Amino acid sequence: MYQGGYIGKVLRINLSEQTAKEEELPLQVAQDFIGGAGFGIKYLFDEVKGGADPLGPENKLIFVSGPLSGTSVPCASRMAVTAKSPLTGAVGMALTGGYFPVELKFAGYDALIVEGKAAAPTYVWIKNGDVRFRSAKKVWGMKTTDTQQIIKNELNDQNVRIACIGPAGENQIKIASIINEWRAVGRKGLGAVMGSKNLKAIAIRGTGKVQVADKEKLKAAKGAFTKAMKESHVLYPAFAKIGTPMVVDHTCATGIFPTKNYTETGQYAPADKIGVDVQMTRNVGKEHCYGCPVGCSQLKLAKTGSYAGILSEGPEYETMYSYGGVTGVENMDAIIAADRLADELGLDTISSGVAIAFAMELYEKGILTKEDTGGLELNFGNDEAMVTILKQMAFREGIGDLLADGAKAAAEKIGKGSDKYAMHVKGLELPAYDVRGAKAHGLNYATAYTGADHNRGYAFQEIFGIPVPHEVDRFAVEGKGKLTKWNQDVRTATTDAPTMCAFLLDMAVAGIATQNTADLLEAVTGLVYTPDDIMQAGERINNLARAFNVREGFTRADDTLPERLLTEPLPGGAAKGHFISKDELNQMLDEYYTERGWNIETGAPTSEKLEELGLGYVFDQMVL
Ligand code: SF4
Repeated sequence: MYQGGYIGKVLRINLSEQTAKEEELPLQVAQDFIGGAGFGIKYLFDEVKGGADPLGPENKLIFVSGPLSGTSVPCASRMAVTAKSPLTGAVGMALTGGYFPVELKFAGYDALIVEGKAAAPTYVWIKNGDVRFRSAKKVWGMKTTDTQQIIKNELNDQNVRIACIGPAGENQIKIASIINEWRAVGRKGLGAVMGSKNLKAIAIRGTGKVQVADKEKLKAAKGAFTKAMKESHVLYPAFAKIGTPMVVDHTCATGIFPTKNYTETGQYAPADKIGVDVQMTRNVGKEHCYGCPVGCSQLKLAKTGSYAGILSEGPEYETMYSYGGVTGVENMDAIIAADRLADELGLDTISSGVAIAFAMELYEKGILTKEDTGGLELNFGNDEAMVTILKQMAFREGIGDLLADGAKAAAEKIGKGSDKYAMHVKGLELPAYDVRGAKAHGLNYATAYTGADHNRGYAFQEIFGIPVPHEVDRFAVEGKGKLTKWNQDVRTATTDAPTMCAFLLDMAVAGIATQNTADLLEAVTGLVYTPDDIMQAGERINNLARAFNVREGFTRADDTLPERLLTEPLPGGAAKGHFISKDELNQMLDEYYTERGWNIETGAPTSEKLEELGLGYVFDQMVL
């Protein structure tokens, strides 16, 4: 019996049959997997068979909010979207914020599972438990802002919350995103999964409430949380005023802002061109996710040239890297315009920028020529070429078609040894940290269940020097296996599953995260957790995700990094000379698997570990 937080209901929609049915959310699933990514991975493992085609009707798209979403807990309006990733073939999970996640709860559901494939372009309209399948013919082919507006008009309700795809998702490019207002489910090609189902959008409206099990307990738990937020000297005033793009200056100073496809990191560090001082000249406002007092989302207006007048939310730090540093683009206004364009087309900004940077390096090396680029001078720094290719990607045109499924797939098509310049892990393009100068962060890229994903085990100890659980030397190797397990489990359990904003973990509450999560969950849901239970839930979710990947054929050999990071020292800056040698990576992996209790040869969870986590049934299912 649910006392609060959870609605206790899952909505299952089958697009092939045009049916919708409500199911009970099993209490044990709630207790063991918390919500968000935890539920997503549990349903994915149990319901999507090994070897399923990620773009086939057998893949499922699972939207899950968290138990704290819709309560008065700040910064909890987030949602995990999970499917088998068409980009990696592994677990595809990404989180988004904004207002859609709470609306799902207000409409009466903890989770929404989308199955099958509609016969024609469709959008789903959910209002307080009433589900309708409507034609999306009118909005098919449209950009994301127009799509959302037209659907709101059609439903005659401007307060409907919408998650939709753009042309990139419709054309099933494997780096397509899902957009909800100014927020994105950016990574792992989940927009392509939505497109493969002929599902243009999900519109949702709810007027329900989320109950709280113990209001007095919640007051006390929230007190500790908000005190830590207020006392954070990073969160206020800097982060609230500048948002994630402020990290550009920091990573330039510490020598890990990746530039020109990782060929000039540290040596070329463009903080003076695209850092905070320049960013602030473009800021015109901000946005807050539901119930967030911080409001880190900055609105920027491009001022110059053909980009003048283009308004975009962000660009976030990762996009400053992907359309700035890694492509060598120094034009702040071009980055703003490219960011807007990617959100309109429904493209992952990280993957698209890194794929273009890869092509730029090939062009400079003569592996790609003007004939391949359709006449574009594809040198680093050419912002016009970058913007042109973004448009081409979404519509699978020109060289954009070659890059539309990511750098790994492009390298396979191009050949000529180009794979060594493709910056990805398991097919997912690298995020904005050159991990040659942050080795636990590198180990996380190598081992995270989604591929190279900063968000699955962010090493804030190395990036920001936060001494939790202890101080670390970012260049050291020893202890990084243990630290990476801790980073992955704590992040999963305190942000991805309860769907709390991860920025708070990094900037304010790291020291109290597990206790605080236990307190908040107990107050809201009535389910009792200790900090150890919270960590174990994180471990359980990471093990189940690993088991899914093992079933898909992933092994220790896939837990690696791009060749460049393993062989070429950083050419300049504060981390000059550092890299992660193959021996160092192996040493860290040995320690990591040992800490995880996994098989050190294969990287697979052992039956003992799975039993310990209550996942005994999984062992026999890890084989195809
Ligand atoms: S800090 Fe930013 S991302 Fe996090 S909840 Fe607030 S506005 Fe959303």
